[in-house]
Amino acid sequence: TSFAHFGFDEQLMHQIRKSEYTQPTPIQCQGVPIALGGRDMIGIAKTGSGKTAAFIWPMLVHIMDQKELEQGEGPIAVIVCPTRELCQQIHSECKRFGKVYGLRSVAVYGGGSMWEQAKALQEGAEIVVCTPGRLIDHVKKKATSLQRVTYLVFDEADRMFDMGFGTSLLFSATFRKKIEKLARDILVDPIRVVQ
Ligand code: AMP
Repeated sequence: TSFAHFGFDEQLMHQIRKSEYTQPTPIQCQGVPIALGGRDMIGIAKTGSGKTAAFIWPMLVHIMDQKELEQGEGPIAVIVCPTRELCQQIHSECKRFGKVYGLRSVAVYGGGSMWEQAKALQEGAEIVVCTPGRLIDHVKKKATSLQRVTYLVFDEADRMFDMGFGTSLLFSATFRKKIEKLARDILVDPIRVVQ
């Protein structure tokens, strides 16, 4: 597969070329068409495999389609991840690629200023990258609303369960069972990609 197979527009292709990526990685080859097709997916891929871009590129296409259909408040895409560092890393990738469409990303994570994050959320963003507990805090305080969310990513879901976030997602069985149950509860007929 080459990047041309994804059918991305010239703006996104330009940014990908600027990143000096010559060809898609295996998880991108398999995952991007699935996400572009609107299917749910479980992606098994290590850090360094290019998995972040594999969910960010289809996300941007989805947001641009969705934005035309639905005006309104709150993010269209939410990416949930276990740590502040990962949040910042994913947020910076979202900005790097999202800027070609003028899309805004906000990162909200535990340990950062509630007030500053709430202000950024209220200014508006199509993309929110968050740790689970902090997102819940902001929703409770009505700093943002999730009613417009139609693209949801759990990154490093295994680490989130290890860190005990699984309990806040209301699962209580063992680690492996939790992943299976999460998949059964929230994904619709997922395609499993094992790399
Ligand atoms: P990740 O697996 O998302 O942590 O990505 C690891 C690194 O791979 C990041 O530094 C990306 O910039 C880089 N990367 C992502 N996609 C590609 C690609 N198609 N070709 C080369 N590098 C890439």
